[in-house]
Amino acid sequence: MAQAGQRKCRSCAQFFVPDRRNRTRQRYCASAACRRASKIASQAAWVGKPENQDYFRDPCHAARVRAWRAVQPVANVRVHAQTHQRPVDRFAEGQANLRPLHPVGFNLARVCSVRVSPQFRVALDANHYSVPARYAGQNLLLKAYPDRVCVYYRD
Ligand SMILES: [Zn+2]
Repeated sequence: MAQAGQRKCRSCAQFFVPDRRNRTRQRYCASAACRRASKIASQAAWVGKPENQDYFRDPCHAARVRAWRAVQPVANVRVHAQTHQRPVDRFAEGQANLRPLHPVGFNLARVCSVRVSPQFRVALDANHYSVPARYAGQNLLLKAYPDRVCVYYRD
């Protein structure tokens, strides 16, 4: 039961006494986990506002971050906490094992058998593709690539 002046924490649901300087606004208790939850919630609320959606997306911000990265290239050269190695060194080791991409590329087609409608069309997803009229009523092989659709008659 809440005592006078106490409030229920939004994170842990325990009753706490808000700091008197912030008693009308404090919604989370002072424990580290709840302060972290408060920070996450307030940042998510800020990012969720429509006026803040593009706040850091201006070209001036991109240039600022690029300039900062150029002077402080820390991410790739500091010792990693788990591996105790620098990522740049690990990449140099692993680079010897990398092989070039296959020159022909991979076959990414989705293959299916389709029946040609009496209006000599084949259906793929929500689209209809016309084929030569002589294939009406036949079964054809369809290969759907990311950038094109190929239809085959007898291999
Ligand atoms: Zn709490």
